[in-house]
Amino acid sequence: MIEVAKTPSSPWLDGLNPAQSEAVRTLDGPLLVLSGAGTGKTRVLTARLAELVASGTAKPWNILAVTFTNKAAREMKMRVTGLVGPMAEQVWLGTFHALAAKMLRRHADLVGLRSDFTILDTDDQIRLLKQLMEVEDIDPKRWPARMLGGVIQRWKDRGLPPEKVGLAEAGDIANGRVRSLYERYQMRLIALNAVDFGDLLLHMLSIFTAHADVLAEYQNRITHIMVDEYQDTNVAQYLWLRLLTGNRNNLCCVGDDDQSIYGWRGAEVGNILRFESDFNGAKTVRLEENYRSTGHILAAASKIIAHNETRLGKTLFTLAGDGEKLRVNGYWDGPDEARNIASQIETMMKNGVHLSQIAVLVRAGFQTREFEERFIAIGLPYRVVGVRFYERAEIRDAVAYLRLIAQPSDDLAFERIINTPKRGLGTASLQAVHIQARASDKPLLAAAIDLVQTEELRPAARNTLQSFVQDIKRWRDLASTLHQADLAKIVLDESGYTKIWQLDKSPDAEGRLENLTELMNAMQDFDSLQGFLEHIALVTDGDADPEHGEVTLMTLHAAKGLEFDVVFLPGWEEGIFPSQRTMDENGAVGLEEERRLAYVGITRARRNLFISFANSRRIHGQWQSSIPSRFVQELPDENITEDLAQGMGFGRVSAPRLGDDGSNGFAGYAVGGYGAGWRRMQARRAEPAEGSWEPANNKTEFCTGDRVFHQKFGMGNILTIDGDKLLIAFDKAGHKKVVSGFVSKP
Ligand code: ATP
Ligand code: MG
Repeated sequence: MIEVAKTPSSPWLDGLNPAQSEAVRTLDGPLLVLSGAGTGKTRVLTARLAELVASGTAKPWNILAVTFTNKAAREMKMRVTGLVGPMAEQVWLGTFHALAAKMLRRHADLVGLRSDFTILDTDDQIRLLKQLMEVEDIDPKRWPARMLGGVIQRWKDRGLPPEKVGLAEAGDIANGRVRSLYERYQMRLIALNAVDFGDLLLHMLSIFTAHADVLAEYQNRITHIMVDEYQDTNVAQYLWLRLLTGNRNNLCCVGDDDQSIYGWRGAEVGNILRFESDFNGAKTVRLEENYRSTGHILAAASKIIAHNETRLGKTLFTLAGDGEKLRVNGYWDGPDEARNIASQIETMMKNGVHLSQIAVLVRAGFQTREFEERFIAIGLPYRVVGVRFYERAEIRDAVAYLRLIAQPSDDLAFERIINTPKRGLGTASLQAVHIQARASDKPLLAAAIDLVQTEELRPAARNTLQSFVQDIKRWRDLASTLHQADLAKIVLDESGYTKIWQLDKSPDAEGRLENLTELMNAMQDFDSLQGFLEHIALVTDGDADPEHGEVTLMTLHAAKGLEFDVVFLPGWEEGIFPSQRTMDENGAVGLEEERRLAYVGITRARRNLFISFANSRRIHGQWQSSIPSRFVQELPDENITEDLAQGMGFGRVSAPRLGDDGSNGFAGYAVGGYGAGWRRMQARRAEPAEGSWEPANNKTEFCTGDRVFHQKFGMGNILTIDGDKLLIAFDKAGHKKVVSGFVSKP
């Protein structure tokens, strides 16, 4: 029988437009896909991975793909599994952190680490820095550890180990001692057999530079490299990619300069802008059709981002039709906003919208709380995406136990749990452990084991410490036979940790116990305790799980690359979004990055987009008035529907709720035209010459929203301007009316 040769089907190529198809079929040489949101960049990467394998151009283990979302990674793996079965596991697939960690475990000894090194999170990092700052005699009040940690992190983002940090660069920070702090910090990390996030790449860079054979091994093995969201790579990531790419130059990057939103974390948009000159013979493909969003959403996004000056500029179109206009809602206050959004979601749910297709995206992590409370109150299923779960205190405590069991030299874990629950070990006993550790150059746990065999401690302390080290040993033995989730349960129960929360009468104790249970659920899915610990050290982003019908609650930063039918963007108020801090620290550059975030947020929506702001917020326990974000003003009239009646009511006077000093200074603002036209109010702000808005006093060049300094009341933001009288929300002094002559711009 003669078999008819079938054309192998390549479903990943179906429906690609010509430009996408060209990108997918360009398998060798440097390739850049530079295009706006929703044009199929990630889809192109996924298809290209399949094409590389299917065409025989590369084997799974020859390909390294850096993804930003779990969804993309899953899709890639699924495609390749369809082609080559379990061999798909051998693709180097993951985030920069995950890939670098995998490599570093193989070569840890070359930088003085063991392969079971711990990956520290920010909290541990800060604690460690605080200890070292004491040694360096740096005043933590003047130079907060978090800030110095940031300085060090930025150096790492730029691929700079301590010896490469120029003296001038360290400058006056911490009176010139931050460089030696960095050096000490690195030494301490090695002694702890630990790394921080920045180290994962930094160590790999120094290994690749110092050990040509190791680099050659990778360059031989990895023949094709692909990177998603290239606009957000930092220098260290760029250097790492360059070294791996070597002379082959088979590097395919996709990205969008308008979506560069991690500048504050060291990302260099210059990497994508320089691609063509960086990689000889580079080919650039531009995609212009947006497949994600309907017309009004795409138009609003395009027009908002056009306010940025530093951008390449792109053409985007959709064939999806205009769809619905964006809804812009003004609410009474924060809880009112949460209440209304929750009830709109409920209505949609009743109308058959799957909750996994709805997202609420916020500018800052703290903003999720208001929604969480409301969703819980009405029983609306939701999930918070991000590292938040693992940052909760009870989770961190539990994980510290597991870390110490997995790695007895993990001193930070030891310190976290030695008196949690309270064992009655006093400062003197703990000091003795530290002294012993230093004298014998051993980890704290080992030092404690030594110590309990001596008369050093008083009998009561000795017994307590003895039973602690015995517990750890017993659990360590169990670890080899028990599943890690079962082990965790035993550890938390036997250590008395669970009991802390069972006895706790505070309202959040119940939730903490649930979190601990959830932690054990999360552990079910891993092969080993080590695997789980590795995972939680690396969880930095999450994305919607299609199986679950839950509303997704996350930050705009975490939402990059994702899409939802319905998106809510609450909290569009000056100071929140754009964030005051970003503007204070980075001025116009910071503002443009905030606007790119707005662009990212808007372009996550497929069909329905709701933007909202509240009239007042409670900040640090005090009600403060807020004004709509300038980005609200930038939304094009023709693409939006204003819906102020939603929760505010036109005739309502907001004064009684505002002001901590009993003043009703805000009333004029609310009555004088809030309901009738917040947008008009905004327009005035932009054009001070209009009508009575012009300040009586020519010397005042203030605008609402400006940040100003007052001799007596300190820093604050201008809420309203009435001639030369300003109503200012001071950071510390609350709302005050002052005369403009007494304030200055900082
Ligand atoms: P972002 O900039 O937000 O990361 P992106 O450019 O990576 O977006 P994708 O997420 O790859 O865009 O694609 C957006 C949506 O459009 C996805 O749902 C994708 O499946 C769909 N899509 C992409 N290309 C096509 C196509 N040729 N035909 C139909 N749908 C497509
Ligand atoms: Mg994408």
